[in-house]
Amino acid sequence: MAMIDTELVAERLAIVRDRIARAGGTDVQVMGVTKTWGIDAVRAAATVGCDSVGENYAQELAAKFAGEVGLPPVHFIGRLQTNKVRLVAPFVDVYETVDRGSLAAELAKRAGDATVLVQVSTDTDPDKGGCPIAAAPALVDSCRELGLVVAGLMTVGPTEGGPEAARPGFRAVRTLLDRLGLAVCSMGMSDDLEVAVQEGSTQVRVGSALFGPRPSPASRDRAAPPHAE
Ligand SMILES: *Cc1c(COP(=O)(O)O)cnc(C)c1O
Repeated sequence: MAMIDTELVAERLAIVRDRIARAGGTDVQVMGVTKTWGIDAVRAAATVGCDSVGENYAQELAAKFAGEVGLPPVHFIGRLQTNKVRLVAPFVDVYETVDRGSLAAELAKRAGDATVLVQVSTDTDPDKGGCPIAAAPALVDSCRELGLVVAGLMTVGPTEGGPEAARPGFRAVRTLLDRLGLAVCSMGMSDDLEVAVQEGSTQVRVGSALFGPRPSPASRDRAAPPHAE
């Protein structure tokens, strides 16, 4: 696995914070997204002062964080199957991807008064998860009835079309956040964080801009020249 250079991560975090400031952000938290990286990336995120770390995959998270102490808050940001809640519950502080009642019910059962964000879909890609924006207020209510603490909303911008393509969705999520009186607006990643901050993000989730290209089999496959397949 690729090595993490903590000094380089510190420099990159400064660049990310500068990008946020230039976009007009004054109180925006930075999550270090450490999926596919080892625990050394998580420790680096902690050392350089990321406000939280984010993980996408249940099995990877449980293996990576077992026995680790003194880390920043751990946020689950991937699609979460109900049968994986029990596996990740000992390690996760905030569940950002609650997009259906069945998941909320399982979290209430296994993680009690867990802090959650309701994930809203602002894209047509079903793989990203998220409930339709019109369904979000009712889901927020159900989460609360189950005893979960709803801190805010989360969304993932579209993969295609560049950062500007994310703007209308980000704006809609922030408008809903204000209407519901919620505080945490988790939106913006390495490539679209300026647009997210301009539209009122309170937390950006940053992976590659901090740690470099991810060492995932998927990205290696995509990068492979056609003749290699
Ligand atoms: C991977 C991921 C990120 C970080 O993506 P980068 O483009 O590397 O910054 C943020 N949010 C979610 C939900 C992700 O899956």
